Amino acid sequence: MIKVDPIKCKGCGVCEAMCPEVFKIDANGVSQVIGETCVCNLEDIIAACPENAISQE
Ligand code: SF4
Repeated sequence: MIKVDPIKCKGCGVCEAMCPEVFKIDANGVSQVIGETCVCNLEDIIAACPENAISQE
C-alpha cells in the first residue's frame, strides 16, 4: 500500500508531476493516493519527495 504522511507532506506537487495516476494534490494542499498502480518507478518518487512523506508497505 502506498501512503502519504499528511503531516509531512507540504504539497509541493513533485509526486503528482511524476505519477498523476497515483498522487493528486487535494484542496488542502496535501497529496492523496488515488491509485495503487504505479507504472513509474515508485522508489524514484519516494526518493524525490523533499519531505520524505511517501512510503510503501
Ligand atoms: S512530493 Fe512529498 S511533499 Fe511533495 S506533494 Fe508529494 S508527498 Fe507531498
